[in-house]
Amino acid sequence: MPVCDYNELSGDLCVDLESFLRQIVQEAWDMVGLTDIYGKLLYASDSCDRVIGFRPPNNLEELLSRIDHGYRMDVRKLFFKVIQSGNKEKVEYLFQHANEGWIWLETVAIPIRDVGGEIRQIALVTNDITLRKQQESRLISLAYHDPLTGLPNRRLFKEHLNQALLQARRTGKQLALLYVDIDDFKMINDTMGHDIGDSFLQDFASRIRNCLREVDMFARMGGDEFTILLPMMDSAENVETVARRIFRSIEKPYQLGEHSFHATVSMGIALYPRDGDDFNVLLKHVDMALYQVKEKGRNAFRFFHSDR
Ligand code: GH3
Ligand code: MG
Repeated sequence: MPVCDYNELSGDLCVDLESFLRQIVQEAWDMVGLTDIYGKLLYASDSCDRVIGFRPPNNLEELLSRIDHGYRMDVRKLFFKVIQSGNKEKVEYLFQHANEGWIWLETVAIPIRDVGGEIRQIALVTNDITLRKQQESRLISLAYHDPLTGLPNRRLFKEHLNQALLQARRTGKQLALLYVDIDDFKMINDTMGHDIGDSFLQDFASRIRNCLREVDMFARMGGDEFTILLPMMDSAENVETVARRIFRSIEKPYQLGEHSFHATVSMGIALYPRDGDDFNVLLKHVDMALYQVKEKGRNAFRFFHSDR
């Protein structure tokens, strides 16, 4: 095994260690800063102009005022954490660039000690992580949405329903769960092709979305199955009104390419708390109601009844 003998950065290694370090810092792509332990900025590298669009004054308050309110406290705490723990600490935050709007920055704060081991200064290494954050949020969005219709998928719907159930429990309100399955959707695919089937699903989804309020949640569970969550409903009659509105919107003819046709749906409805008080029970009961509609000839909605 070769012995690694370059772990310690010392004056013996370079002709001039100080000018070596200075050049590294000056040429660094990231912003490099140095503060005293009271937050006074002692040094900021030239790269500040590129990363944030200006050279910061020696008072950190100007920089802090450009940080989004939600993150400002985290950045302030960074100093205390470094001094308390004696270790390097990291924080991510939204920052207002001098002329390019909001960007994401990541700052690593490193305690700098004197020969006696006392922390005297703090080095701040900051880089622009906007691209990474955008990619992360795109991935999160993909994981929670159906790519064809852009609707929330089963996973996101489950999270929302659980949240809505917690809120309904707190406020004593009812909520309604509607489960929609398109009738004979295979026929549309088989007679007009999968692409028309896809366009139909998009048109169908936007028609239903237009029947709902901002607070309602509409999701694609998979294939031709959709769920609708109506929070804060006062009565079963109001739920029925929404169901009828959806049916009226869906029964209008579809015009896709050279194809003109009609479609119908079957719908099961379950209410919280009457028909169940958790995700699984409500889903089971709404599915039973839907199954009964399918059995009885489709193109209708039906509330779950525990005795049938
Ligand atoms: P039913 O009346 O009993 O609901 O019968 P159905 O013909 O609608 O059949 P079912 O609901 O069991 O099956 C849904 C079909 O949807 C099966 C699948 O081929 C088709 N499908 C699923 N996802 C997509 C999609 O993203 N695009 C298209 N075009 N078709 C899909
Ligand atoms: Mg179907």
